[in-house]
Amino acid sequence: MIKSYKKEELTGKTLTVLGPKNINELGKVICHEHLLIDFNVVFQNPPNPKELHLKDEKINLSNLGWIKKFWVSNKDNLLIDDIEISINEVNYFHKAQGNTVVDVTSIGLSRNPSALKIISQRTGVNVIMGSGHYIEKTHPDYFKTDSVHKIAEKITKDILDGVDGTGIHSGIIGEIGCDFPWSSDERKSVHAGVLAQKETGAPLLIHPGRDENAPIEIVDSIIRWGGNTSRTIMGHIERTIYSKSKLLDLANSGIYMNFDLFGHESSYYPLADSTYMPSDHQRIEIISDLIDLGFSNKILIGHDICSKHRLKKFGGHGWDHILKRIIPKMKKFGIKKRDIENILINNPREILRFA
Ligand SMILES: [Zn+2]
Repeated sequence: MIKSYKKEELTGKTLTVLGPKNINELGKVICHEHLLIDFNVVFQNPPNPKELHLKDEKINLSNLGWIKKFWVSNKDNLLIDDIEISINEVNYFHKAQGNTVVDVTSIGLSRNPSALKIISQRTGVNVIMGSGHYIEKTHPDYFKTDSVHKIAEKITKDILDGVDGTGIHSGIIGEIGCDFPWSSDERKSVHAGVLAQKETGAPLLIHPGRDENAPIEIVDSIIRWGGNTSRTIMGHIERTIYSKSKLLDLANSGIYMNFDLFGHESSYYPLADSTYMPSDHQRIEIISDLIDLGFSNKILIGHDICSKHRLKKFGGHGWDHILKRIIPKMKKFGIKKRDIENILINNPREILRFA
């Protein structure tokens, strides 16, 4: 049965692909994932012309070492489209006592509501599905001509009425993709997200461009458009901001900061010359600093797995990496139990609650 909700019916609850739930049911949450995705929008030819043939090979043991370094240069690697594989991978998360996955595969990344519903039903893990649009390169044709209000209306429908007649509802607006410099259509995209947030009370999640100034530029605009930073998540903090003062500026805006690339080892980060990918240890150091500065209640974490090589089936760390390795490492590092509970349970519960 297809059900529509009014904003008031959702207030105080969270909205999963199986319908609204009490926020106490969320449990341990990873806050930026892609259970299924076509991420070929970031594909680049192998940097060495002699290795061009590797772009079309299926991922296998003999090319896996190369793919780990040049992960955006193999087309098969950028496609997670086998529901049975994803179910197996989510089961590892569940076995590690994980309860909820926020899947921010937004419009343009091959979002698949029916498959997400099946994954949630078969694994017993809550799945919160995204809406809104990824970076301009993936924008659908209607984006250029539609007004910001019309785009906001589509996002609002995904949440209140369900996506494209499936009766399966988005429970978060994002990831809204921005490049740097920020294009005018990407501004329109974030603006539409802000308007839909007001209409629905849903949380908003941003993918900023790869520049230290991108997050705060986006925050300033969100405020100008009447959005609520304390209902918004800024993603990919660790590959975007390196200066403590800029991180502090962002933290002081009241926004949630998502360290959502745990397990992603990419010393040869191919997506920007200006930014680099820190290690898990460095991620924990930055989080620990933020906790010391009083921002324990604004930190979220995730893996942002968007390629095969990070799934266990293909030799990767999988969706249980945070629960099995990062949390113990955080404890060893001296992060207190109360702060870990904030990051994994309490903060997600606050931000995923419709307001
Ligand atoms: Zn992502």
